[in-house]
Amino acid sequence: MSQAVLEIEDLQVEFPTKRGVIRAVNCVNLALDESEKLGLVGESGSGKSMTLLTLLRLTPHPGRITSGAIRYKGRNLLNLESREMRLLRGKELAMIFQDPMTTLNPVYKVGEQIQESLKVHNVFAGTSGAFWKRARRTAERRRIYELMAEVGIPSPVERFEAYPHEFSGGMQQRAVIAIALACNPNVLLADEPTTALDVTVQAQIMNLLDRINAERKTAVILVTHDLSLAAEFCDRIAVMYAGKVVELGRVDQITADPKHPYTIGLINALPRLRYGKGRPLEPIPGEVDLANLPPGCAFTDRCSRAMAQCRDNVPRKTVLGSGREVLCHLFSEDR
Ligand code: SF4
Repeated sequence: MSQAVLEIEDLQVEFPTKRGVIRAVNCVNLALDESEKLGLVGESGSGKSMTLLTLLRLTPHPGRITSGAIRYKGRNLLNLESREMRLLRGKELAMIFQDPMTTLNPVYKVGEQIQESLKVHNVFAGTSGAFWKRARRTAERRRIYELMAEVGIPSPVERFEAYPHEFSGGMQQRAVIAIALACNPNVLLADEPTTALDVTVQAQIMNLLDRINAERKTAVILVTHDLSLAAEFCDRIAVMYAGKVVELGRVDQITADPKHPYTIGLINALPRLRYGKGRPLEPIPGEVDLANLPPGCAFTDRCSRAMAQCRDNVPRKTVLGSGREVLCHLFSEDR
């Protein structure tokens, strides 16, 4: 039986705004198993990216973690000193951001930026002295070339010297992945890693992440608004809405038999190239407004199946078996 490498318990993140305090992450509970690929899916404002940033304690100002725990290898990351957290970030838990051009520093060579990750975490630290210094530099270079080759950057020796603007979008994202992999992390956090790329490059990058997961046994959390991408890549999917996980299950369960009306809405909104010619798209009406949510189920105003109790009563999590969970009054036992 696989063990959880990362556990999120009752995580809550709040932001003060002119319209009042909003909960961007609202009592999220999730576990990521070793080597697992977990997708966080939902539209903008669902809390998926905020959950990911908070895992690394990178919640943007003025956001505040108001409660919960993030357990990694038995330690609650929320209790670590900033210094301890800095050492862990990039080494054990690494992030791949959405836009490689804003992740890479335009004034440094690509190879140097991969090298920086190795240096920050002292991967090749050792005895001082000229001989060891040379040996370290050689080992470091070799490692960088290996990483570049592993992520599919051709001619690593020449490409080491290139600047980010000399790379295509796909190659830039490969360089970002090489930086993330430099210290052989246990968990990769990928925040919409292919949004800035065209569809063929997107497939290449997702195949690369898939290969890394299979070969290195690195667990991956993929944040995406694209349910079909998550269904292709992930083992399990957590559907998020207004800061909460509203449905959780294996990919086959979620795609073949979605339970929550929001998940059903997301699936119906997907364009179908082959079978849907002439079929109008079915958008979910309205949009999420975190500062103005109903007191009960946050999805009430947009839900075609809303009932009298939905507006005022917060639905509780119902476990449907086989690890399947749903947060909706339609499935609560006391209905
Ligand atoms: Fe719709 Fe009610 Fe379920 Fe919310 S609790 S998703 S409003 S049926």
